[in-house]
Amino acid sequence: MIIVMKHHAPDEYIQAVVDKIRAAGLSEHVSRGTERTIIGAVGDERVFSPDAFELMPGVERAMRVVKDYRIVSREVHPADSVVQVRGQAFGGKAIQIIAGPAAVETAEQMAQCAELVKAGGCRLLRGGAFKPRTSPYAFPGIGVAGLEQLRQESGRHGLPMVSELLDVRMLETFLELDVDMIEIGARNMQNVGLLKEVGRINKPVILKRGPSATLTEWLMAAEHIAAGGNHNIIFCERGVRSFEPSYRNMLDLSSIPVLKRETHLPVIVDPSHAGGKAWMVPSLAKAAIAAGADGLMLDIHPDPANAWCDGEQALNPQDFRQLLGELAALALALGRTLA
Ligand code: PEP
Ligand code: MN
Repeated sequence: MIIVMKHHAPDEYIQAVVDKIRAAGLSEHVSRGTERTIIGAVGDERVFSPDAFELMPGVERAMRVVKDYRIVSREVHPADSVVQVRGQAFGGKAIQIIAGPAAVETAEQMAQCAELVKAGGCRLLRGGAFKPRTSPYAFPGIGVAGLEQLRQESGRHGLPMVSELLDVRMLETFLELDVDMIEIGARNMQNVGLLKEVGRINKPVILKRGPSATLTEWLMAAEHIAAGGNHNIIFCERGVRSFEPSYRNMLDLSSIPVLKRETHLPVIVDPSHAGGKAWMVPSLAKAAIAAGADGLMLDIHPDPANAWCDGEQALNPQDFRQLLGELAALALALGRTLA
């Protein structure tokens, strides 16, 4: 912790800061400048919060030297981490595409989606069984039956399955049905109870960015999971709330290089929930890969006009195939492979 004293703070105020540091078992390093004095608290600074000093007389500001996130930080783990999801690696050379419907509707729709995903060469299948809708009267997902249909198609095609966990009370069911990767959606990014629970299991977790979360808040949310022992975390940027109404969320491409610098964990992008319109998805998807994302999560539907949820942003089979072709060329140019 570094404590900056106010201009000409008297010695007694400096001494009070030093006493507080010593009382906590740390030592001090006092640097007296011509204008002001700076005090370094040497030792484990986690025992203090900056305001413990900022509220003292004569203190201008106090700041931490180390970050609050540790396990997920690159400082602690400089090399890229590769997260394995039933044999599919995230964070390596391969760009991983997760695709599937926003919501599992019927056995037939799920089967059609799974065939499209498999035929397109994508390696993971998504499907929402429990949907966090903005309106309580909107279609909430078909629940456990949806997970079962996803499990069936996942098994049939050898595609690991991804689904969103909304409520901690469903965790046992997710484990019983052996959901391969658990998604924590944007709305739950700071649901600490949920984060802690998925931190105690050994399933990979996709942690989506909260609609207005800063990158530090997002990293701290991941740290909540990691602190429980589960380090298999993948960040998913899905756009943030902005002042612009012509798209659903503003895709924050800048978060990709910042996150890749701050954390060793993989980062993927969901361009569907960012754009909110299918016609925007190819541009956003390609931009995300060009910016260094390790993968994408895409909403697709065999018949978007009749989708039960988020049809507007779902790629139809033809546009999905075309995008995959373009992404393959882009991956090649970037020295990566499209899984
Ligand atoms: C989803 O992936 O279906 C979803 C609801 O996304 P988000 O949490 O990003 O809104
Ligand atoms: Mn959705």
